[in-house]
Amino acid sequence: MNYYSLNNNAPQVSFKEAVINGIAPDRGLYFPSEINPLPSSFFEEIELLSNQEIAFRAIHQFVKADLPDSVLKEILEQVLDFDFPVVPIDEVTGTLELFHGPTMAFKDVGARFMAQCLGYFSKNTSSEVTVLVATSGDTGGAVANGFLGVKGVQVVILYPDGKVSDIQERQLTTLGQNITALNVAGTFDDCQKMVKTAFLDTTLLENMQLTSANSINVARWLPQLFYFLFAYKQAKQEGKEIVFSVPSGNFGNICAGMVAHKLGMPVKHFIAATNANDTVPEFMKTEKYAPKPSKATISNAMDVGDPSNFIRIRHLFQNDHRLLRHMLSSYSFTDVETKTAMKTIYENTDYISDPHGAVGYLGLKKYQSENPNTYGIFLETAHPVKFLDVVEDTLGISPEIPPQIQKVLGKEKRAIHIASYQDLKSYLLK
Ligand SMILES: *Cc1c(COP(=O)(O)O)cnc(C)c1O
Repeated sequence: MNYYSLNNNAPQVSFKEAVINGIAPDRGLYFPSEINPLPSSFFEEIELLSNQEIAFRAIHQFVKADLPDSVLKEILEQVLDFDFPVVPIDEVTGTLELFHGPTMAFKDVGARFMAQCLGYFSKNTSSEVTVLVATSGDTGGAVANGFLGVKGVQVVILYPDGKVSDIQERQLTTLGQNITALNVAGTFDDCQKMVKTAFLDTTLLENMQLTSANSINVARWLPQLFYFLFAYKQAKQEGKEIVFSVPSGNFGNICAGMVAHKLGMPVKHFIAATNANDTVPEFMKTEKYAPKPSKATISNAMDVGDPSNFIRIRHLFQNDHRLLRHMLSSYSFTDVETKTAMKTIYENTDYISDPHGAVGYLGLKKYQSENPNTYGIFLETAHPVKFLDVVEDTLGISPEIPPQIQKVLGKEKRAIHIASYQDLKSYLLK
């Protein structure tokens, strides 16, 4: 299986090269040259398979040329060592909890999978790979945790000073070893810009092998399709057509879900639920893609004004708006609506959702109001304690702090302060 650039101006590469490059030389995102459906027996008997078996069969075609079966199996054992339960909310709704991993956000699976792949690829080479990543909060922690101690890989994380939560900051600044945190005087957009500039900087590229651990990297993006299969395995017994509502920011997660659909998973529809950053909901209405600067909201991991993976979704549907509309709806919600939804869910069911999950719930209910007779699953992408202030403020309760989070609370934060691209460059060249 090869990967080609969506800008169509770069050579096709193997999985290994796509992972190491991150992005193609023509700045395009890599995309698999084929997506071959799995046999229908796989979906008919999916409840008999373990999560590791499901994952193996789903991702095999995309990686087999570069990962021997035994290595892929070992990687999946390590990556998928926690649960992905669908918790019932009401008769026609369940929530897929993706926060039982080490950093309590759904990015753990992709970050761990990518880390294990890069670690394997750099085993027999003397050259180091440097992973450069900008985070608005959750990516940094998941990447730091996933790559900790992986030989041959140095990780540099840029995060905006004062704009991530205390827990998020501790998750990415307290690990040490091969993980360095850079605290940037600026916003997430500034961090992102610095990372993009670095990938184009020929002096840097001559001196080091740089790659990205954002969801543009195929090794972080593709494993997210497992979630939808794990949910399908649990929900198919409901006997209704299934719809997924995905709280979306960079649109990597939902795009992976749509790949699961291409693999043959029976799904009626996808809903991309966003906060006030409504570039995609607007596109679905107007057919014009108009990126905007990001707006700050209480679901901050989705504060993205120009979602990088949306181009992959359009490509999956041959850039045909009619085909796309048939499978995807997208709605935007305000912070006030999000808080009301958190209250409604809590009052009706005692379930504590985080603001991202609540946006997913809103998207689902909006769709189901016109499409009853469906079983809806919204993705709960982070544990509510990761957004403690909002939860306490909205629900008037303090959720218990789980052990994964307690572990980092007492540790000392270590970060290097930088104020400009020059600072970043000098740090990397040092
Ligand atoms: C990253 C993140 C999202 C958005 O996922 P995308 O794949 O970027 O659309 C949603 N919720 C949480 C908690 C996240 O960390």
